[in-house]
Amino acid sequence: MKRACVAILALLLGAAAFSQAMLPPRTPAVRMPPTPRDGEGNIGAVVPILIYHSIRSYIPADTKGARRWIATPETLESELSYLREKGYTSVTFDALAAYVQNGAPLPVRPVIISFDDDWQSQYVNAVPLLRKYGFTATFFVWVRAVGRAHHMTWDEIRELDAEGMEIGCHTLTHLILPRIKTDDMLRREIVAAKDLIEAHIGHPVTSLAWPFGQYDERVVSMAREAGFTTARGTWPGVFHTKDGLLSLTGLIRTESTANLVDTLSQHLAQAGRPAGAGSGLAEPR
Ligand SMILES: [Zn+2]
Repeated sequence: MKRACVAILALLLGAAAFSQAMLPPRTPAVRMPPTPRDGEGNIGAVVPILIYHSIRSYIPADTKGARRWIATPETLESELSYLREKGYTSVTFDALAAYVQNGAPLPVRPVIISFDDDWQSQYVNAVPLLRKYGFTATFFVWVRAVGRAHHMTWDEIRELDAEGMEIGCHTLTHLILPRIKTDDMLRREIVAAKDLIEAHIGHPVTSLAWPFGQYDERVVSMAREAGFTTARGTWPGVFHTKDGLLSLTGLIRTESTANLVDTLSQHLAQAGRPAGAGSGLAEPR
């Protein structure tokens, strides 16, 4: 009886590990509210931050929920083609920070293209398209997943870094950070993960993506102390200020290019032309 229980448990754990390898983690319902809009002397920038996960064709086992985290290569290509046609230029998170902190110039229509969770499908399917359309992107590395089935290897990550892609940190084990009880454990997720990526790529890592889009004041202040300049959540929005650099909003990409065009137009219309937006302002033509 005991042996049967152990066998069942092993089977369940195996299935859980498999499904974790195949599917991006789910986003829990609770999120932090967006950072308030610009205050006195705070330069604002309208920069859409696109958030992608897996880039691959759908398979029959993909549920409707799972498809939320998958963009097909055809969809990604039509989106990159759209951005190129509209005159967007890809920028890094550092460039966005330099603009809102010091007014360092941004291109007329800046966009940040970001990929989470180091899925190998990004390396295989997205990178050739980024090269084809002349865009760079930021790849947020979930450190413990590197080298696992369906994930990139450190060699591949180094290759992306060498060709000008930005490598960011997506923590060590992809937990919901505000739920972590001890500072030691939180430090492993934020500080040790940063150190490990830096050891692999040989230079500082300054951008972070919050797992599940979840953060609170405690985790934000640890990220700041660790030396992160920016951290991206998943709350929707395109307008950024200096005060919100560690709680950046983004646009999760799903379903279709029409969906991107609509979402982008809506958010850019809402963002309007905030004072001081200067070269950071981007609007669809
Ligand atoms: Zn993630």
